[in-house]
Amino acid sequence: MANNPYHTSVGNISSCSTQTLKPSPASKIVVNTFHGSNLLSAQQHDEKSKILTQNGLTKSAATALETSLYASLYAHAPQNAVQQYTTNSARIYSGEHTPYAGVSLNKGSLDHDRRHEDDPCAAIDDINNYDDSDSEEDYVSTPFYLDEDSTETRQSRHTRYQVEKTQSKESIATTATTDSEVSVYFKPDAILSPSLFPHVPPYLNFTSHADKGPPMPAALHRVLKWKLSPVMPKIVKRVVLNSGFRIIKNTTDWMAVWEKHMKSPGFRTIRSHQKYNHIPGSFRIGRKDTMWRSIYSNMKKFGKKDFGFMQKSYIMPDDLENLRQVWPKNASKLTKWIVKPPASARGTGIRIVNKWSQFPKDRPLVVQKYIERPLLINDNKFDMRLYVILTSINPLRIYMYKDGLARFASVKYSSELSNLDERCMHLTNYSINKFSQNYSKNEDFNACQGHKWTLQSLWSCLENRGVNTKRLWATLRNLVIKGIVSGESGLNRMYRQNVNFRYNCFELFGFDVLLDDNLVPWLLEINISPSLHSELPLDLHVKGPLIQAVLNTALYQVPPKLNDRQQHEILDELNLTGPLCHDKRIFTTCLTAEEVRKHNQYTNRNIEFREEYVDTILDNLLPDDVRCLIITEDELNRCKPLERIFPTSGTHIYLKYIENARYYNRLLDAWETKYAKNREQGIALLSRYCKDKYHLQVSDAAMEKEPNVALTEIDMLHVKKEEVLDGATNLSLLKQPVHPSVSTETVLPANTDSKPGSPDASTEHKS
Ligand code: ADP
Repeated sequence: MANNPYHTSVGNISSCSTQTLKPSPASKIVVNTFHGSNLLSAQQHDEKSKILTQNGLTKSAATALETSLYASLYAHAPQNAVQQYTTNSARIYSGEHTPYAGVSLNKGSLDHDRRHEDDPCAAIDDINNYDDSDSEEDYVSTPFYLDEDSTETRQSRHTRYQVEKTQSKESIATTATTDSEVSVYFKPDAILSPSLFPHVPPYLNFTSHADKGPPMPAALHRVLKWKLSPVMPKIVKRVVLNSGFRIIKNTTDWMAVWEKHMKSPGFRTIRSHQKYNHIPGSFRIGRKDTMWRSIYSNMKKFGKKDFGFMQKSYIMPDDLENLRQVWPKNASKLTKWIVKPPASARGTGIRIVNKWSQFPKDRPLVVQKYIERPLLINDNKFDMRLYVILTSINPLRIYMYKDGLARFASVKYSSELSNLDERCMHLTNYSINKFSQNYSKNEDFNACQGHKWTLQSLWSCLENRGVNTKRLWATLRNLVIKGIVSGESGLNRMYRQNVNFRYNCFELFGFDVLLDDNLVPWLLEINISPSLHSELPLDLHVKGPLIQAVLNTALYQVPPKLNDRQQHEILDELNLTGPLCHDKRIFTTCLTAEEVRKHNQYTNRNIEFREEYVDTILDNLLPDDVRCLIITEDELNRCKPLERIFPTSGTHIYLKYIENARYYNRLLDAWETKYAKNREQGIALLSRYCKDKYHLQVSDAAMEKEPNVALTEIDMLHVKKEEVLDGATNLSLLKQPVHPSVSTETVLPANTDSKPGSPDASTEHKS
């Protein structure tokens, strides 16, 4: 493909049979998906309509991909060129008799997901509508199930991770070795595990996507209601159903949901026992423009040495003049730039340029220095997808997943300027490269073969080259912490303003990192909805245990929906002592006057005077301190196979980057300094407090904080505007009396992957 002079730069085109009529090198079509429709002037829009009509399409049938193709054909195709490209999705014509090129669709080839994927406009500037979750293709592996009389093998929690050791070699089509532990599917031995502390409710255990969990008491199963959303990835459905939850469509009485992002004020409507998979304000680092601004601002404050892990970027049109000033001298060095829409994904709309004229100046774009010397494996460029979980912003608690993905470009890398349009050479996105005829799937998750590897396989390959992967991992950890810290102040403000309970939310991030040929990691972007699509066994191998670990770490408790008798019966059956149900007092954000005073006292001094608080902040623990510490210790106890990277006994070095270092970060810093090597002693201390129910002492305000709404904003996400209570927004219902919601719930059967509205979704009527 790389040698084909008539190859176009759209991945899906290059993968398919290319019929060329009278080809001529001069007529090479440069196709980009670069805000195609916006490139068209009003007059060109008219002409586009004409072309569409000639090809038997209505205007509305044209996707953004087509529009992009049109736009670039207008821009680049010579008028007399006679070419026809047949593709999976599109056929491009241009001919002697037409002054322009045309596109027609191959019927049925553009399904909903592809449309979304290729729509450069849909994804831009609307973070709330952006979904990069799962393309809902069918799984081919064993179905998940949940039935009553299981005879499953029970494994002890402590033997839940086995070590996989295999042979490895660097060359393609060999098997990878790994010295490190790789998780195999962990089967919890109980539905609920007790907290480390007395008078703290237990937590629900999630099993893997591949096995069903332990038997569930019927009364408990009834209240474990997970709200079905259209974006809930299949892998999450599997884990949730196997773990004994019910997935219910159209319920307002839910305890958990996996949803798209919503606007920050919507978080105020979430109830104390409800869990949502996003944190308000995460777009601060989850969009390419805001992420650069956050990191650049820290770079200016703390220096390039500390925050120079991203290539210099310019946000258009604001930074146009700055870019113009640096451009001439770079142009003389033939510098390459990569131009990206600020909030898109999957390589959509990205181009590599070296001329000022090659990108528009009047619309939001990120223009970034192109990393010209990436580390190559088998001559191919690759990037890494790291998974990072943020369970709390204040205090900051960050986890990293030990595995991840290495994604390879499918065309051998060359730095020649003539190859700039070769997307399958310069972009490593799976969504682009999978359409290349060169793309080879990796069917074996242990192998260094094909164009997608696990991170563990990558490590073994790099180790064979003499790379110290432990050190590399430490550098990546540092990059991840600094990336999150860069957005901390915005995230913290949004959280403080909008989140009522420390229980309510968490965020799973996908960090994309590229290594250059000096093994320096460069942050490319942070995804706030990393794809959980698991098309290949290799994806399942990485993302199945990831989701299980994320849900286990994020903490799900039994909702307070059971009466005393039911609670006692369940506790008896599970051989546990109470309490059973979620207790909102433990997660309150309200402080007593004394607690406020302590916060002020310990934050009025600069972090330079760390010794002062490290020595004394733990001396007189207040109930809110104890709550913060027990949540943190319990979470650490649940987090395997995730690695907690913040806080640790060494992470106080990052506190200087955080506004005022914040009280809870200082508290945990002191705690880690004292108890990191002596955890049992710390846990015993906290247990003594909890025995006396000290942690349950809260202010009156804490008891009142429950949002007073009929429906949460999450319940409104997919409701059409006209259905929203005569147009009243739900937020406007805050402070009004609660109406017990009467709803008809549709339950997703445990043995299907039914989508909402699909015929096999059964209906349960609540009495
Ligand atoms: P998207 O969200 O659309 O995937 P990315 O910023 O991740 O956008 O870029 C897509 C791909 O482009 C990356 O996977 C990487 O291969 C390549 N890329 C991005 N930025 C750079 C850069 N500065 N230098 C070199 N390659 C880059």
